[in-house]
Amino acid sequence: QRRFVLADRPTMRAPRATDFRLEEAPMPEPKAGEVLVRTVFLSLDPYMRGRISQVKSYARGVEPGETMVGEAAGEVIQSRAEGFQPGDLVRGHIGWQTHAAVPAAQLRRIAPDGFPLSYHLGVLGMPGRTAYFALLDVGQPKAGETVLVSAASGAVGQLVGQIASLKGARAVGIAGGPAKVAYCREIGFADAFDYKGLDDDALVAAVARTCPAGVDVYFDNVGGVIHDAAMANLNLGGRVIICGTISGYNRLEQQDTGRRHLRTLLVKRARIQGFLVSDYAAREAEFEADMPKWLKDGSIRYREDIVDGFEKTPEAFAGLLEGKNFGKLVVRAGAD
Ligand code: NDP
Repeated sequence: QRRFVLADRPTMRAPRATDFRLEEAPMPEPKAGEVLVRTVFLSLDPYMRGRISQVKSYARGVEPGETMVGEAAGEVIQSRAEGFQPGDLVRGHIGWQTHAAVPAAQLRRIAPDGFPLSYHLGVLGMPGRTAYFALLDVGQPKAGETVLVSAASGAVGQLVGQIASLKGARAVGIAGGPAKVAYCREIGFADAFDYKGLDDDALVAAVARTCPAGVDVYFDNVGGVIHDAAMANLNLGGRVIICGTISGYNRLEQQDTGRRHLRTLLVKRARIQGFLVSDYAAREAEFEADMPKWLKDGSIRYREDIVDGFEKTPEAFAGLLEGKNFGKLVVRAGAD
């Protein structure tokens, strides 16, 4: 069994591969009620940056020396729990390890559905539910409205744009670099632009140019100056969803001093709301009724960025905070 533990806590800096240490241990023995899982795909997600900081959040952090947390999909190779058999496919919070003995209650079985296993960590998993519930429940886009989304080619963003289009809204994406912008257009965003190299005024102008009727829903994945540019173009009755603030994740120790835009909210009678996917656990059936169907009939397309090799996990994670991933980032840790 191999695993990555947190070696060093990155404080006020970007994470590096060397912040994690590879350790080898004997194969874990499942206790009664546990199953032994072999990891096939590991999900790498921006929230993990918060877990390795000391800043208080909605979840407990990882201490140096502890196994890094994260969701994974894999295969049951030994079971001491009712309802699980060797060969079953499962997902759960297994952490950055090649094998783990996990209490059955913490695992979800993945029924064979013809989709790649990795999809259950993305479009059919947590990022998919995030895009779906944050946009539809908080954003409530109407036909003809403009939905602006940042980190638009990423795991969540690419789905937000496509769901908005399905609902008859006009989706506009903001992404880093021409290839990501081209991808947004390809999957049905009405327009998209590259934010790299634009100063504050140019950002405001780029939003105005791509959203000529103004912004009705801003799906914020990044915060910072892109947030300011979206707010400057907000329409009357606008809805702003704070899904993520990745542009500040390497500075979480600093006071959260983003501009408040109070006057914009007042004048536009707009609403700004934070979102957390785990609040929607009781409503998963709604998502399950739509997303697999949309994927099957081609109304939703999905791009993954698969990194091969368990040992590349820390490096791939560091890349996520620099926009090196193109689509949902997953690591193939073992044969699928
Ligand atoms: P992505 O697949 O979008 O990957 C992250 C992307 O963020 C990068 O590829 C990069 O894209 C962009 N990025 C990185 N640094 C910056 C920066 N400094 N400024 C602007 N953009 C940056 O990740 P996810 O789709 O998984 O997550 C997107 C957001 O949603 C994150 O903020 C995440 O924390 C949040 N989230 C929130 C959830 C919730 O329940 N609230 C649940 C799931 C995700 P580019 O090259 O385009 O800049």
